[in-house]
Amino acid sequence: MGLSFETVTPLAPDYREEPYWWREAAPAPLPPAPLQTEVDVVVVGGGYTGMMAAARLAQRGLSVALLEKHELGWGASSRNGGMVHPGFKVSPGALLERYRDRGRELYRASLEAFALVEDTITTNRIECEYERTGHLHLAYKPAHVDHLEAEAQVLRQEFGVDARVLDRDALASEIGSPVYHGALLYERSGGLHPAKYFAGLARLARDGGAHLHDQTPATAIERRDRGGFVVVTPRGRFTTRDVLLATNGYSDGLVPSIRRRIIPIGSYIIATEPLSADRARGAIPNRRMLFDSKNFLYYWRLSSDNRMLFGGRASFAPTTIGSARDWLYTAMIRVHPQLAGIMVEHAWGGYVGFTFDRLPHIGRIEGITYALGYCGTGVAMSTYFGQLAADWIAGGELPGCWQRAFPGLPL
Ligand SMILES: Cc1cc2nc3c(=O)[nH]c(=O)nc-3n(C[C@H](O)[C@H](O)[C@H](O)COP(=O)(O)OP(=O)(O)OC[C@H]3O[C@@H](n4cnc5c(N)ncnc54)[C@H](O)[C@@H]3O)c2cc1C
Repeated sequence: MGLSFETVTPLAPDYREEPYWWREAAPAPLPPAPLQTEVDVVVVGGGYTGMMAAARLAQRGLSVALLEKHELGWGASSRNGGMVHPGFKVSPGALLERYRDRGRELYRASLEAFALVEDTITTNRIECEYERTGHLHLAYKPAHVDHLEAEAQVLRQEFGVDARVLDRDALASEIGSPVYHGALLYERSGGLHPAKYFAGLARLARDGGAHLHDQTPATAIERRDRGGFVVVTPRGRFTTRDVLLATNGYSDGLVPSIRRRIIPIGSYIIATEPLSADRARGAIPNRRMLFDSKNFLYYWRLSSDNRMLFGGRASFAPTTIGSARDWLYTAMIRVHPQLAGIMVEHAWGGYVGFTFDRLPHIGRIEGITYALGYCGTGVAMSTYFGQLAADWIAGGELPGCWQRAFPGLPL
């Protein structure tokens, strides 16, 4: 599908370049509160990873201060597509081939991550429009159908996961699009409202007694002679035993060796005006979450009020929201020609944090714990890493499959 921009994107009168999710759950400034400057743990970064970690640490009886540069949830955690599923950028087959038993454990961990999100939502009654919709991984080229078939086999045989491939004919009952050659249908996945999910995690952390500080960038981490750290911010200095870095695609120069291992890549989404029930059903009859098999993939879904949310990852070159919006609109109409003329109400972007081995990493560097690198599939894994990092800091063991070298920039 060569993309030329012959389509002029029709914009709604109240078109806004900010996440659709912010209409009902925008990141908002906290009321001023005194800083808690002596704590057991300082968490840097207020997204799913940091907030889940803060909630868990507080629950385990540790004092914790979470520092966020902007408003809480301002990063990818209130901007994403809200698709929750197990797995990584690396396919389950490639995981087994590359890492054998360790690869098996990694995929199993991603199944646990998905279960953790569902359990966290249910147990804590987080109202985030979660639905177990299942998802489709769509074959963009005929040859991709064979890859998906191989993946489905690995999922069924190795992990007991209900996954099967639909051919082009069977696909007609799942998507109103002439573009795709088949798809892997995966039932154990769903969709949520990402900003409302984040707000739920923030409530858990706050209710548990974590100290949450927004507009508080960590600008330096100093080591203390007697052990522990001082985390420096423009608002004050925090003395702490442990630091958790949870900054993913927004990692700045705070820990330079981490910055060298994370590649921030822009991902963009448009949200249309609400579609009629018939039009929505015609495009995605079973309300599945969808993404395709291109390298710079498209991902799309319906919102609970029947808007089409259509996203894609940019190349490494920087782009503007306006130009991303135009190529996404053109792509959306190619995929769903029946949506031609539909107006766009929101367009926005955010950074995903890529790694050189396309897997997330949790570990310690010079005593600082980090948990990041979700490569664009992080709703489930960041929740899981937040919990795992907290348990590790609180004295638990890090499972062997995560004790892996964290590759840096190839020289
Ligand atoms: C457009 C888009 C669509 C996506 N769609 C999906 C999807 O559908 N499904 C899926 O699984 N994943 C998706 N993702 C990925 C997912 O959103 C992320 O993996 C996840 O939100 C990462 O959470 P996090 O807490 O690690 O990082 P973030 O939510 O990005 O939070 C990091 C925070 O750190 C803060 N920070 C940085 N430096 C400092 C500092 N020095 N001091 C204090 N604070 C600092 C930043 O301000 C930021 O708020 C998408 C991402 C984007 C951008």
